Amino acid sequence: MSDVSASTALAESATPRPLSTLTTLGLGGPPRRLVTATDADEMVESVREADRLHEPTLILAGGSNVVIGDDGFPGTVVLVRSRGARVLNRDGDTLTVRVEAGEPWDEFVASTVTAGWSGLECLSGIPGSAGATPIQNVGAYGQEVAETIFAVQVYDRFADEVRTMPAEECGFAYRTSVFKGNDRWVVLSVDFRLTRSSLSGPVRYAELAGSLGVEIGERVPLAEAREHVLALRTRKGMVLDPNDPDTRSVGSFFTNPVLDAEEYARLRERTGELGDPPAWPQPDGTVKVSAAWLIDQAGFPKGFRRPGGVAISSKHTLALTHRGGGSTAALLALAAEIRDGVRERFGVTLHPEPVLVNCQL
Ligand SMILES: Cc1cc2nc3c(=O)[nH]c(=O)nc-3n(C[C@H](O)[C@H](O)[C@H](O)COP(=O)(O)OP(=O)(O)OC[C@H]3O[C@@H](n4cnc5c(N)ncnc54)[C@H](O)[C@@H]3O)c2cc1C
Repeated sequence: MSDVSASTALAESATPRPLSTLTTLGLGGPPRRLVTATDADEMVESVREADRLHEPTLILAGGSNVVIGDDGFPGTVVLVRSRGARVLNRDGDTLTVRVEAGEPWDEFVASTVTAGWSGLECLSGIPGSAGATPIQNVGAYGQEVAETIFAVQVYDRFADEVRTMPAEECGFAYRTSVFKGNDRWVVLSVDFRLTRSSLSGPVRYAELAGSLGVEIGERVPLAEAREHVLALRTRKGMVLDPNDPDTRSVGSFFTNPVLDAEEYARLRERTGELGDPPAWPQPDGTVKVSAAWLIDQAGFPKGFRRPGGVAISSKHTLALTHRGGGSTAALLALAAEIRDGVRERFGVTLHPEPVLVNCQL
């Protein structure tokens, strides 16, 4: 292991830049201290050192799922910049790949598609780092990482030890896990179990099946799945593009509400002549309802703008965007207005998907 204080001191920024330069929203004030960690050892030692100093600590990677307050962060930000991926073992058509936390997610997905490893292709185009994917069980177009994560290497800050958590311990569920909103664990690397195949997993998402011209359940060449997912995402402003202000977001700002049978029946009474909202029945009897539909029908259409440089994306109702010159306060005011409007109109409370750091909704 490297000399701790030397490595972190070397990587520490003298005058930390505002976190707005490190988030996809382009929002967030300065941290007290910023340390860049380029491998797992440096991540552990940076966090350990901050803990020793009793400093609040924020792990920041791609900055694509955080809303950081205008006052910044009153502690140490550890910027995750570790890189690399390698095959750990092969067993017939199955292989286990370990990817370091700071590896850019989409570059990793692209490499699995090129290598002919099936399992991540529908997660193409999602911004951020590989190490953040377990945090909210990243998912899109009918796939989520919970299906392929085999284990996660973590630094457990309570126990002060590095250990491997099997997927069963990670508490994966819809857009969450034991890691979300809990800073006990630092994800150092993630092991994915993938299948050697030139074909995708069965296509499960109707919109993707339509775009590919196949039936639900069919498989398509990996590269084709990736290409269609990227095209669909780009149309919705869900692939980062510095020239597209609609991508200056955290992706979906709200999760789709999951209602029990009674709540869903009450919602249907209130939607009345609007008809039923798009909804996906879950195996446990609950119903996941489209937050985008609720927001739109409550009077917040695409392109809805508010003072302070913030607006709903012109391509996707769920993406709240920063158009420039704005503030986190303005973005959260817009989010609160939408949440309250939906609750008043439909009696359903929307919850934010990103992690709120030093700010509140
Ligand atoms: C345009 C756009 C589209 C998006 N589309 C999707 C989508 O389709 N599906 C989806 O699920 N998400 C989507 N997202 C959200 C986001 O990209 C993912 O959640 C991504 O995994 C976040 O990665 P990150 O590296 O940017 O995390 P960050 O924003 O840096 O961090 C997010 C949270 O994870 C924690 N964290 C990050 N790395 C670690 C680590 N190594 N150890 C411990 N904690 C860590 C942070 O402390 C923070 O709490 C989208 C975002 C954008 C901007």
